[in-house]
Amino acid sequence: MWLTWIAMKSSRDRHVLDQMGSALEHGNLAQSLLISGGAEILDVAVEEIRRALLCEGSRQRDCHCRSCETAVANHPDVVIVSPESRSIGREQVAEAVRGLAVRPLWSSAKVVIIRPAESLSREAESYLLKHLEEPPAYGYYLLASEQPEALLKTIRSRCQHWRFTHEAPDETVAGPISITPVTLEHLVELTYGVRQQYLASGDRNWLQLWETLQLGYQNLESNANPDLVLNAIEAVWLREGQRMA
Ligand SMILES: [Zn+2]
Repeated sequence: MWLTWIAMKSSRDRHVLDQMGSALEHGNLAQSLLISGGAEILDVAVEEIRRALLCEGSRQRDCHCRSCETAVANHPDVVIVSPESRSIGREQVAEAVRGLAVRPLWSSAKVVIIRPAESLSREAESYLLKHLEEPPAYGYYLLASEQPEALLKTIRSRCQHWRFTHEAPDETVAGPISITPVTLEHLVELTYGVRQQYLASGDRNWLQLWETLQLGYQNLESNANPDLVLNAIEAVWLREGQRMA
């Protein structure tokens, strides 16, 4: 089975994300956010930030609340703005602003994700400017960009700017991944990676694999025989892997 995922193991990137989490906790996170960095890191960062903002539960990585378990594309309190053609036009931004004006359905917050923000047309940027200044009390704008310098200076200055690195993540896992050793620690790693895949793609095959890994973890924790746990995971892993390949 071929899996690719990225764990944000670069300590600097992890640190930036932790700082954002702490700012959120202390009420210091701005409602207009610009995050910049390399594409792979932005994938992880966007997902983690939107989870932190929308979580209806513990806000921990192992949270299983409705919001955390719903793929970003399917979450009712997320508005995603991406280029329809070459750029993001003014009308697309206007529609997102109107979407944000409708109160959140599930969470206490609602997020407009604009990515890549450098695709905003000049008209779209001008339109967005004044809305960045006064989002509704529950509203967040999250602009993700690999080239933040391409944005209007006024856009940048109105956002709280968080800089991730452009470096390739320290650890990219690609290729056949071993389920072994069947240890609690390794299962946590696998579960996290599979969960990221599910949340990014919304593909239910990943969900099934994720649930199987969770069950494996629980069984192992209750002292089940590791060989039996391995067999159970392997059965789903191989079946789903073939379907996804
Ligand atoms: Zn949650």
